[in-house]
Amino acid sequence: MNCIVELDNVSKSFSGLTALQGISLRIWEGEILTFLGPNGSGKTTLLKILAFIEKPSEGSMYYRGGKVTDENMAWLRRKATMVFQRPVLLNATVYDNVAYGLKIRGFPKGEISRAVKEALGLVHLEGYEKRPARKLSGGEQQRVSLARALALKTELLLLDEPTASLDPKSAAIIEDAIVTVNRKHGSTIVMATHNVFQAKAMPNRVALMEAGRIREVGTPHEVFSVLSKTLVSFAALDNTLIGEAKVVGDGVSLIDLGNNFKIVAAKKAEGKVSVFISPEDIILSRTRFESSARNLFKGRITEISDMGSVVRLRVDVGKPFTVQITKRSFEEMKLNLNSEVYIAFKASSVHIL
Ligand code: ADP
Ligand code: MG
Repeated sequence: MNCIVELDNVSKSFSGLTALQGISLRIWEGEILTFLGPNGSGKTTLLKILAFIEKPSEGSMYYRGGKVTDENMAWLRRKATMVFQRPVLLNATVYDNVAYGLKIRGFPKGEISRAVKEALGLVHLEGYEKRPARKLSGGEQQRVSLARALALKTELLLLDEPTASLDPKSAAIIEDAIVTVNRKHGSTIVMATHNVFQAKAMPNRVALMEAGRIREVGTPHEVFSVLSKTLVSFAALDNTLIGEAKVVGDGVSLIDLGNNFKIVAAKKAEGKVSVFISPEDIILSRTRFESSARNLFKGRITEISDMGSVVRLRVDVGKPFTVQITKRSFEEMKLNLNSEVYIAFKASSVHIL
């Protein structure tokens, strides 16, 4: 395997504040590597360094074995494309947005049009060429932003929380496109996420980040099969909880999350486990309702974040849960801070990490 970029003991500080500390890491050609960590752990800063956008404050960096210097950094920037968490689209058509990078690099028209078509196909936006990009939904805009990066076909693609706060359909399309370009074109992909389940499902390697350091790096199996201190500290992530599991039936376990708060999982597990429940898999209701879901709890809304087409709610049912619903159902239910609500999720939605 070829190493594309190597970081050797890299640190980065911003006017006294240390964002990254002692990072040593190799990016291998053709891999999907995911940085998983809570807010502020340094994911975005690390991606920017790998994209040659930010310069390390200390340590060394190598591109294909050659040292990265102030002199060659501007040239190296062309080797990588970074897609930012919030899409920055031009006030122009979808076509012009996706073609932008290729135009400024001076590609011939025919080649641009072929590349744009292929990239839009990958994110399922065929036929959107003439639409004004800024009029699209949040999820569609994020897909345009990814298509623009894909069209450039740089050898390194850096994606910052590419599916955070997107509707499930756009999130699935983006995940598919990432895997497809990796498999078909051999693109090397490094992405950041705070979604534990995504980090477990998608990549070849996961690097757990905490407070500016990489705590662990390995295959998802290696990283998630040990209930490390780092994973425990990840309980701060949305709906990642630590508990004690006990098999109570055929393929069913009861997990005590502490203070006698128990949830049912459709999987056999014994002993200490970390579990994850996706915010989209939780059903929310104003009233107690009939449901086949094995987990049903009553609580109050303690936090509301408007994400555009979806709304994320923090619901305290004895343990805090994050629930994601569409803006429409949020408005229909007339929810407010402190509203009393019920949450429900299936035993099969409880993922044991
Ligand atoms: P993450 O993407 O994991 O949320 P970031 O890389 O954005 O983390 O941030 C890591 C730390 O560095 C945070 O404490 C953040 O406030 C700080 N930081 C990031 N960029 C800057 C900047 N341009 N100026 C000052 N501080 C910054
Ligand atoms: Mg970030």
